[in-house]
Amino acid sequence: MEEKILINQLQNRKIQPTSMRLMVLNFLVKNEAAVSLTLLENHFTRSDRTTLYRTLRTFEEKGLVHRIDDAGDSTKYALCPAECTCSYPDDTHLHFFCTDCEKTFCFRDLNIPNFSLPEQFIPKKGNFVISGFCPSCAA
Ligand SMILES: [Zn+2]
Ligand SMILES: [Zn+2]
Repeated sequence: MEEKILINQLQNRKIQPTSMRLMVLNFLVKNEAAVSLTLLENHFTRSDRTTLYRTLRTFEEKGLVHRIDDAGDSTKYALCPAECTCSYPDDTHLHFFCTDCEKTFCFRDLNIPNFSLPEQFIPKKGNFVISGFCPSCAA
């Protein structure tokens, strides 16, 4: 991925491009499914951990990524498209967790229905996960 595109992607979310942020973004872009925190931790050196966590928090706060808590052992992060505002229920979509390879897929086009919750429950975020086998594991 060309660095200029990555820099633009950060700047569009009002994130100052630093070398660490660019490296994390590049890693997320290269992976086609959601990336687990464990995978990220293993990709970067131990001394980078604190910066890595801070970077992910910034990305999440600025809406560049969303966090998925699936049935796996590790939190996952997936990139948000430019128009995403991570709002409920418009940007809330279905996720699929493969129990075999433990990959998590984002199905952006599969929006969740707008449930009417019991009174006084105020939804902010949704994390919808269906688990099963992905195409390569089902084969
Ligand atoms: Zn799988
Ligand atoms: Zn997602």
